[in-house]
Amino acid sequence: LIIGVPREVFAGEKRVATVPEVVEKLIKLGFAVAVESGAGDAANFDDDSYRAVGAQIITGAAELWAKSDIVFKVRGPNADEVGLMREGGTLVSFIWPAQNPELMNQLAAKKATVLAIDSLPRQLSRAQKMDALTSMAGIAGYRAVIEAANAFGRFFNGQITAAGKVPPAKIFIAGAGVAGLAAIGTAAGLGAIVRANDTRAEVADQVVSLGGEFVKVDYEEEGSGGGGYAKVMSEGFQQAQREMYAKQAKEVDIIITTALIPGKPAPKLITAEMVKSMKPGSVIVDMAAEQGGNCELTEPGQVVVKHGVTIVGYTDLVSRMARQSSTLYATNLFRLAEELCKTKDGVINVNMDDDAIRGLTVVKEGNITWPPPAPKLA
Ligand code: NAD
Repeated sequence: LIIGVPREVFAGEKRVATVPEVVEKLIKLGFAVAVESGAGDAANFDDDSYRAVGAQIITGAAELWAKSDIVFKVRGPNADEVGLMREGGTLVSFIWPAQNPELMNQLAAKKATVLAIDSLPRQLSRAQKMDALTSMAGIAGYRAVIEAANAFGRFFNGQITAAGKVPPAKIFIAGAGVAGLAAIGTAAGLGAIVRANDTRAEVADQVVSLGGEFVKVDYEEEGSGGGGYAKVMSEGFQQAQREMYAKQAKEVDIIITTALIPGKPAPKLITAEMVKSMKPGSVIVDMAAEQGGNCELTEPGQVVVKHGVTIVGYTDLVSRMARQSSTLYATNLFRLAEELCKTKDGVINVNMDDDAIRGLTVVKEGNITWPPPAPKLA
């Protein structure tokens, strides 16, 4: 079968769904690979680098979509792209079915089979190699620290030089999921003093193992809302958490916020008052900007200076490292292709008896199969 990779059309999206080193592996699995001309340009993979490993370069989205049995994409398709899709074709991309019912209906009308990489059951250990949410969150967490370092006017590490003594930067990280943990490791690696908080107490050991200090909220409440994700906390907890965050805001130089609750707006953790209390030259990177922000003063997509504090609200952190994020995403999709094509003959079998495949198959031959039944844990 032919796997086709179109150029991403979403504004500002620089990633591409496959990269030359992965094309080679897909061909070894028996697939032919077609790439739309220019698809890798923004991630620094030019047409020749794909051609060199055996991909066919196709000019124009219409021809690419028409030719592809299976389309690998990063962003879910827009209505025009669904229009180009071949009837009965297969699509692998981010979809977010809960948020995009109309797209789901359009894909079903195309009699498509759709594998939504965001719907992979992440708790299955077998699924980890395909977990693009984790690989993308890790990159975003790293990049958030780099953005913070860029906006911050001082060293991260403490130094004693002939020109004087420099104290290490103090960083507070709100939310220690995948992105937060990556940020903790990166900031600690640069020599900063790192503190972190999460409503899920179970992450405390992970924070410490990466070189951070876990700061507890002085209020007993279990923060897990199921499946390893967070829940909305009680008003009493939130009040105690605000008091602790207000104290941290006065002490630290940089705050990186990553807190998300599935299906809910991002919790507001950093108030305008807290921003005001930070030292001049401090930095906030709000990784939840796209979901409404963890900081009251964040402007999504923008860098703003409020009360002498630089607030970075970029919503494209992974696209700012497009070569890296494309490579990891492409590898996640290759691992999925291996699961779909165990026979290594370029033919796929979407096996609905396999928990991992069942979980991410959101449309099967035109039938909406989302949400899936709860998987058996493995
Ligand atoms: P996420 O992006 O949904 O949320 C980020 C973090 O914010 C979470 O740790 C969450 O607890 C925290 N948070 C939410 N509200 C908060 C608040 N009010 N104050 C402070 N922190 C708050 O989470 P994620 O990074 O996608 O990870 C979610 C879970 O998935 C984790 O348990 C992670 O270990 C798990 N996971 C498991 C696997 C696996 O088993 N293979 C892989 C990836 C992720």
